[in-house]
Amino acid sequence: MARNTGPKCKLCRREGVKLFLKGARCDTARCALERREYPPGMHSWRRRKISPYGQQLREKQKLKRYYGLLERQFRLYFQRAEHAKGNTGENLLLALERRLDNVLTCLGFATSRSHARQLVRHEHILVNNSKVTVPAQEVKVDDQITPANKEKSQGAIAASLESTQNHSMPSWLEATLDPPVGKVVRMPTREDVSLPVREQLVVELLSK
Ligand code: SF4
Repeated sequence: MARNTGPKCKLCRREGVKLFLKGARCDTARCALERREYPPGMHSWRRRKISPYGQQLREKQKLKRYYGLLERQFRLYFQRAEHAKGNTGENLLLALERRLDNVLTCLGFATSRSHARQLVRHEHILVNNSKVTVPAQEVKVDDQITPANKEKSQGAIAASLESTQNHSMPSWLEATLDPPVGKVVRMPTREDVSLPVREQLVVELLSK
């Protein structure tokens, strides 16, 4: 019998990709996409042929959900990416990747992007020793990310690090655990984005 995995896992199943929406559980064998949910011969859905528009929409939804953005926020990122020099799709992806909430998740300081946003809004995070409250803040090379100097902040980060031990960190970031210090060693490149996404389809959709 199918186990109830909750709405977040259903989103991953619908997109057919791990969106890492459930924190530390996503890196374990308990992830709904890692385990067999249905006995052989039973399927939760039938694969239907998706129209070109449907494929574009699916890629956009995948990106939005992975980074936890609302439609309006996502459109703003797209407009900025369109006006910047270079490839629009790549500009879009890399701007999302540089968000502080994403960086905290990649460092293992937060168990998910939504958890990271909560940590930032509750003033548990410092960037270059200054308090930050905006999860969308974009990091720069040589930025240092640390827990705030409060017992609660230190405890929250330590607990996240403990439960995200299996998480692999992209090479544009570095972290020490004791004390917990994250560092941006270089800007991310397209190859650093681990989410399997066809960003060109998103560009085609939003350029119409
Ligand atoms: Fe659920 Fe996380 Fe696995 Fe997605 S990646 S299916 S949210 S456990």
